[in-house]
Amino acid sequence: MAVEVPDAHRPDGEALSSGASMVFNVYPSCGSRPACPRLSTVQRVMSLIVQKYGGTSVGSIERIQNVACKVKGWKEQGHDVVVVVSAMSGETNRLIGLAGQLSKSPSPREMDVLVSTGEQVTIALLSMALHELGADARSYTGGQVHILTDGAHSKARIMDIDHARVCADIKAGRVVVVAGFQGVDQAGNITTLGRGGSDTTAVAMAAALNADECQIYTDVGGVYTTDPRIEPKARKLDRITFEEMLEMASLGSKVLQIRSVEFAGKYKVPLRVLSSLEEGEGTLISLEEGSVEEAKIAGIAFNRDEAKLTIRGVPDEPGVAYKILGPIGESNIEVDMIVQNIGKDQTTDFTFTVNRPDFEKALKVLKETARELGAREVEADDSIVKISLVGVGMRSHAGIAAQMFGALAREGINIQMISTSEIKISVVVDEKYLELAVRALHQAFGLDSGPSAA
Ligand code: ADP
Ligand code: ASP
Ligand code: MG
Repeated sequence: MAVEVPDAHRPDGEALSSGASMVFNVYPSCGSRPACPRLSTVQRVMSLIVQKYGGTSVGSIERIQNVACKVKGWKEQGHDVVVVVSAMSGETNRLIGLAGQLSKSPSPREMDVLVSTGEQVTIALLSMALHELGADARSYTGGQVHILTDGAHSKARIMDIDHARVCADIKAGRVVVVAGFQGVDQAGNITTLGRGGSDTTAVAMAAALNADECQIYTDVGGVYTTDPRIEPKARKLDRITFEEMLEMASLGSKVLQIRSVEFAGKYKVPLRVLSSLEEGEGTLISLEEGSVEEAKIAGIAFNRDEAKLTIRGVPDEPGVAYKILGPIGESNIEVDMIVQNIGKDQTTDFTFTVNRPDFEKALKVLKETARELGAREVEADDSIVKISLVGVGMRSHAGIAAQMFGALAREGINIQMISTSEIKISVVVDEKYLELAVRALHQAFGLDSGPSAA
């Protein structure tokens, strides 16, 4: 059983007064900070903030200097700051590519040793940049601040954080710079938390330190109604509920790693997504229900990483689903959507989707099952995408599915599979329709803003 992150407490051992609030409309900049008219009118409250800067935000020396300026600005305003950073953009992929040149199936342990180096470069560079600005800063790898994980290389889960070292530095007035994405297991092996895992490091640090807010700085202004790179009319949301954010992340919106949202929900970490490149208040992930302007739909998520497999003409009898999906599960392949057709002539067809990287493996297993069951044929398609509407408002609005299917039909887009839950509707379509479908749905549900939002 996973050990929980220790009971949160502030470094100074005192609970933050409940009336404390953050000053979000004041964006600190470095050096001669421009006079901020709001500073004199709002109460300045000291607080502990965990900030995370993603790959693009630290993608060059200039960007690292920009981050250092922002961090120093927050510090000058009296806040305690812990910074979690990702590898410089492209670095993790480059490292994975190097391993790929050596081996088709590199050792998971050595992969984690390799890919965790990206973040180590950034923590050192950011600390140096802070020193250049006269700020006291210290960098730490995940292992050095005892981010204890289970031993599942490349997808490890955080079990505990010993924050004593971080607290001591904070007390001494230092900025603490922690490498995202990595930890160590009980045996001291380096582990990593899965792609996008620095988000989870940041939220876990914020939970362990009882931070007043966890700020995820990225290359867009916040969470949008859909990926602004696909739909330039996407609108930034001021707030989104945890439930919706979790669903958006699970359904493919990679703006936050799923586990970071789960963690934030579980430990009630105030979480905000905002841009490191532009000013703005970003998007608050809110614990309150129904905060999204009473809208039916909060946003549209999509996942390109899907593939579909169908086995036709299997005996329509009890246990057939188990016989088909059992071997898939035993091969550690996750199944997402499942459809079993109504049987005809004592046989039935069965379709399911898997993550695209598991496609070949799943196809091999399914072909074997088809032989054993005497099935008629196996069909496979790795050029599909899943597009989902997400919104807690769906609970109180009927007819969303029909509206969705109508909008897709008007564009001549064929729906291959459908799945629904209380707060989402997902469809599988041919990947060539991705952009058209997202834009059509965005417009049909009134999510469009004016000109470009990105
Ligand atoms: P980082 O390197 O900062 O962690 P990511 O690339 O992981 O950044 O996440 C930010 C990206 O998430 C954006 O550039 C955007 O393309 C994508 N994205 C997908 N869905 C959304 C959404 N609904 N709102 C905002 N960004 C989204
Ligand atoms: N560097 C890791 C990745 O590219 C972790 C992260 O950026 O959050 O996935
Ligand atoms: Mg990310």
